[in-house]
Amino acid sequence: MTATLPLHAPQTQFASVDGCLQVGGIAVTRLAQRVGSTPFYAYDRALLSGRVAFLRANMPSTLGLHYSIKANPMPALVQHMAALVDGLDVASAGELKVALDTGMQPERISFAGPGKRATELSQAIAAGACVHIESFREIDAVARMGDALGVAPRLALRINPDFELKSSGMRMGGGAKPFGIDAEQAPAALRRIAALGMDCPGLHIFSGSQSLKAEAIMEAQTRTFELAVRLAGEAGQRLRRLNLGGGFGIPYFPGEAALALAPIGAHLAEQMEALARVSPDTCCAIELGRYLVGEAGVYVARVIERKVSRGQTFLVTDGGLHHHLAASGNFGQVIRKNYPVVIGNRMDESERETVSVVGPLCTPLDLLAERMALPRAEEGDLVVLFQSGAYGLTASPAAFLSHPAALEVLV
Ligand SMILES: *Cc1c(COP(=O)(O)O)cnc(C)c1O
Repeated sequence: MTATLPLHAPQTQFASVDGCLQVGGIAVTRLAQRVGSTPFYAYDRALLSGRVAFLRANMPSTLGLHYSIKANPMPALVQHMAALVDGLDVASAGELKVALDTGMQPERISFAGPGKRATELSQAIAAGACVHIESFREIDAVARMGDALGVAPRLALRINPDFELKSSGMRMGGGAKPFGIDAEQAPAALRRIAALGMDCPGLHIFSGSQSLKAEAIMEAQTRTFELAVRLAGEAGQRLRRLNLGGGFGIPYFPGEAALALAPIGAHLAEQMEALARVSPDTCCAIELGRYLVGEAGVYVARVIERKVSRGQTFLVTDGGLHHHLAASGNFGQVIRKNYPVVIGNRMDESERETVSVVGPLCTPLDLLAERMALPRAEEGDLVVLFQSGAYGLTASPAAFLSHPAALEVLV
C-alpha cells in the first residue's frame, strides 16, 4: 500500500517549450545568459497584468484595488503595477519614494505602519500622501507637522480590530498589537483628530494575511464592514474611504489550493450595496501584496555540485536563504515545507530522483528543497523556485555570509 502524498498546486502559469521553462516568453536558459549571472529573480509582466485583470473580473467594479509595495518593491515592477491598480500602499519613506517615482497621484498613496519617524511623517505630508494613523503620538505629530509645513494632512485611521482573519487553520482572536489603534479607542482618537482641526475621512481595517479560505475572508470582511459602520456612527462622522485590508493567499505548499475568488466577489458586492444604503459616498478598497505578484515570479539558481552524503543526494546551488529566506522555511513558517521547485532546463524528463537542494551558506538552515522528487540534475543546470514574486529578495538577509547579491529582472 502506498500513501498518496499531498501535491503542490499545479504551476501552469509558465509554459515550457522543448523541455525549457519560459519566463516572460523567454527560455530560462537564455534568460540566465541575458542576466549574465545566477542567481536571479524574474518577474513576468504578462502574468502581473493577467492577475490584476482576473481579480477585477471577479470583484465589484467599484471596489478599489491597491498594491502593497512591501511584497515586492522592485521599482520597475512597482511602475508596472502602478498603471494597473488604483492605489499604492507603502510602509516606509523608502517605499514612498518608489511609489511617488511611478507618477501615481499622491492622494492614491497610503502610508501605514507602526513607529513612523518624524521625517517620514513630514515627507508623506509634504508629498500629499495619505497617512494612516497608528497611535495617539502620530495624531499629535501630524497636526504639528501639518502646521509647520502649511499643509492639511490627508489622514485615515488604522484600527486594530477586535477580530482576526483565520489563516491556514490558525485562529488567534484580535489581541494586543503594535498595529493601528485598538477599536475601543477609535472614538477617542477621532475626537482628538477633530479637536486638532484635522479631517479624517478614512478607516483602515487590516485583519490578516495569506488566507486560502474564502469563507474565512468573507467572515472577516463582514466584521470589517460592521466595525466601520459602528465606528463612523459613534463618531457622528461621514465615512468617505474604507480600506478593507486584504489577506488573499496563494498556494505555496503541498496540499494547498488556489483561493476561490468568485464567492468573495459576490459577498463583497452584497456588503458594499448594504453599506451604500447607510453611507452612499463611501469608496471601498482592498490592499493586496502577494496575491498580485507572488505567482508571477521565479527564483533561479544554478547547480554548482552534486554531492552524495551517506546515500542522500544534495544539489548544492549558488542560491540560498540569503536571497530567498521564505523558501528556506525561515520567514514565519511553523513547520518547514517545500516550495514548488523544478529543474528549469529539464521540464520534459519524467524520471525522478529524490534530492535535497541546498545553498552555499555554512548553516543547515540553507535548504531550498528537502527530499523532493526532481529530474536528475547536473552541474550547470537551473533550479527554479515558483511562487517567488513576493517576500523574496527584500525579505531575505542578503548580507549573511557575504555572497554576491541576486539580480532582479522584469520580463
Ligand atoms: C503586508 C501588508 C499587506 C499585504 O499582505 P499580503 O499578504 O502580501 O497581501 C496588506 N496590508 C497591510 C497593512 C500590510 O501590512
